[in-house]
Amino acid sequence: MSLKDEFVQFVHDELQIPLVGVLPPEDFPEEDVKRITTVLELFARSTPLAEGAGSLMKPADYLTEARSVIVAGIPGYPGRIAGFEECREKLLGRTEPTHVNIELSQHYMEKGFQLGNFFTSRGFQCFSIVGTQYPIKLAASKCGIGFYGKNSVIQHPDFGSWISLMAYVTDADLEPDAPIEGDCGNCDLCMKACPTGAIYSPYRCDPARCVDFNLGHNKKNMPSEVREKCSNLLGEGCTVCRDACPKNRKLKPIEGFKPSTELLHPSLLNIFEMTDEEWDNGYANTLMGFFLMDKKYLQRNAAISLGNFREERSLKVLSKVLDRGDDAVRGYAAWAVGRIGGNTAADILKSSLTEEKNKDVRREIESALESVR
Ligand code: SF4
Ligand code: SF4
Repeated sequence: MSLKDEFVQFVHDELQIPLVGVLPPEDFPEEDVKRITTVLELFARSTPLAEGAGSLMKPADYLTEARSVIVAGIPGYPGRIAGFEECREKLLGRTEPTHVNIELSQHYMEKGFQLGNFFTSRGFQCFSIVGTQYPIKLAASKCGIGFYGKNSVIQHPDFGSWISLMAYVTDADLEPDAPIEGDCGNCDLCMKACPTGAIYSPYRCDPARCVDFNLGHNKKNMPSEVREKCSNLLGEGCTVCRDACPKNRKLKPIEGFKPSTELLHPSLLNIFEMTDEEWDNGYANTLMGFFLMDKKYLQRNAAISLGNFREERSLKVLSKVLDRGDDAVRGYAAWAVGRIGGNTAADILKSSLTEEKNKDVRREIESALESVR
C-alpha cells in the first residue's frame, strides 16, 4: 500500500474524517491570487489579529522542502438555534454554535494533531497551516474536498456547505487528487437571501459587506447599513446564505457536542456587566472570542443587537454604556439608542452630546439624533 493510500485509510477509518485531498505545492492562478490578496489586505487593515498579514503565502514559505499540501474537511452542521424573534422577549444574543463549542473545537484539534502525527511519526515534517495566509478554500476546491458555491463557501454534494477545513504542508511526496465536478446551476437563492448584498455576483462575496466579517473581525468603524442587518448576532454566525442553500436541506446536526446555552444565547444586557474574569473563563476560550480578541468587541456587538431589537426597555442600560462604556462601544450605543428612537432616546442623545469630548462618539451621537428626528 502506498503512503498516500495508507494515509487516506487512516483519515477515513481512524479519524472518521470523510473528506481529504492532496494537492501539489504549486502556485495558484494569478486571478485567484489577486482576488484573495484583496481579502487578506482588508483583514490586515481591519483587525490586529491579521496585522502585517496582507499577502498570500505559499507552501514553501512555511516549509522549504514542501512536497504536498493536505486539506481535510470535517462536515458538521450544528443544527438550528433560536432565531431573532425567539430571542426578543429575554433580549438574548446569538452566536455561531460551532464557534462557541469548546469541546467540539478540542475534538477537531485532537483530530488535527493525529493527522499531523501520522507523518511526523514516520519521519516527515508536517505543519498545520490553517488560519494562516494560505488560501485554504481555494486549495479545497482543487483537491476534491468540494467546489465553490455562489456564496463563496465550499460545498460537497453529500455534505453540503457546513464543512470545517484543515490544511497541512508536508515534505512527504503524495499523489495529488483531482477536483470534484459540481456547480450551482441556475440556483441563486443565497444571493437573493443575503441581507447585505455581500454576494454581489455569482461566486463573488465582498467581505466588507458581509455580516460575519464585520461582527467577527472588523475592529474599525462598521458601516451602519451593515449594523442594521446584524440581527442579534454577537460574532460570526450569519447562516442566511447557507440556510437558503438547497444542498444543506437534508443535513443532520452533529451529535454529542452541545455548546453551553450561556455562550450560545447570552443576555445582551448582562454583557455590559461582564467582568474580565468572566470573559477569560468564557468566550476568551472559544473561536469567537479568539476572533473578537477583547470583551469590548462583544459589547459593541451586543449594543448593535439591542439597536436591532428596538426595545425601549434597553435604553437605560444603553444610556449608561454611552456615558461610561469603552470608547470602542460608546458610539455603537449611541447608534442603538437612535435606532430605538422616541422621545426618551432623543433626550438621552441630547444630554450626552453636551458632555461628549470624543469626536468619533460625537459623530455617532449627532447622526443618531438625526435619525431620531
Ligand atoms: S454570511 Fe450573511 S452577510 Fe455574509 S454573505 Fe452569507 S448571507 Fe451574506
Ligand atoms: S443557494 Fe444555490 S446558488 Fe447558493 S450556494 Fe446553494 S446551490 Fe449554490
